[in-house]
Amino acid sequence: MPNEDDPEDDEAPVEIDSMCSARCPHCGELNVFPGFEQILVFVCHFCGEPVEVESPPIQ
Ligand SMILES: [Zn+2]
Repeated sequence: MPNEDDPEDDEAPVEIDSMCSARCPHCGELNVFPGFEQILVFVCHFCGEPVEVESPPIQ
């Protein structure tokens, strides 16, 4: 029998629930980044322009 009473089950260290989103100033599309709590720089998924996020939106 494997040890199914893993105590780490109770406190998942990494929640994939966390998601970050930022709107591209170039094309206005909303880019989402599942798994990221905060993102500072990204390349827009829609127009391919680099975007610097200075103040991430609070949800
Ligand atoms: Zn864009």
